[in-house]
Amino acid sequence: MSRTGRCLCGAVTFAAAGEPGWVGICHCESCRRATGGVLVAAAGYKRDAVRFAGAAPMAYESSPGALRRFCARCGTALSYESEQWPDDVHLMVGAFDRPQDLAPRFHVFAQERLPWLRVADDLPRFRTTPSAGEVLPDRED
Ligand SMILES: [Zn+2]
Ligand SMILES: [Zn+2]
Repeated sequence: MSRTGRCLCGAVTFAAAGEPGWVGICHCESCRRATGGVLVAAAGYKRDAVRFAGAAPMAYESSPGALRRFCARCGTALSYESEQWPDDVHLMVGAFDRPQDLAPRFHVFAQERLPWLRVADDLPRFRTTPSAGEVLPDRED
């Protein structure tokens, strides 16, 4: 199977083969600024499972060793890659054609969650990343 997506203007499309390794919600400042949203959901794929088509996305080094791709025409944030996970690409769930099929399984960088934002789920809230392991309490207030 393959999941498809596109930027807002449609110049860039993508296809991701198979199921993502994970889907998570990120609260980090970098994702916030890159998208203008107050949180971001992303799906983790292997790089060789993802194909962009149409216009080539622009790429920007958002922090040392991290690359974010976005549509050069409309600005839609599309992906995140990091030297930390050289085989992986994180695709923005909101850019998929069927984001409703990509339910998140955890929160990351929960320590950067905006204090007025409450998310009513019971998913684990990692202080930073799942590999770091530290989970914050369920209650957010
Ligand atoms: Zn676009
Ligand atoms: Zn983030």
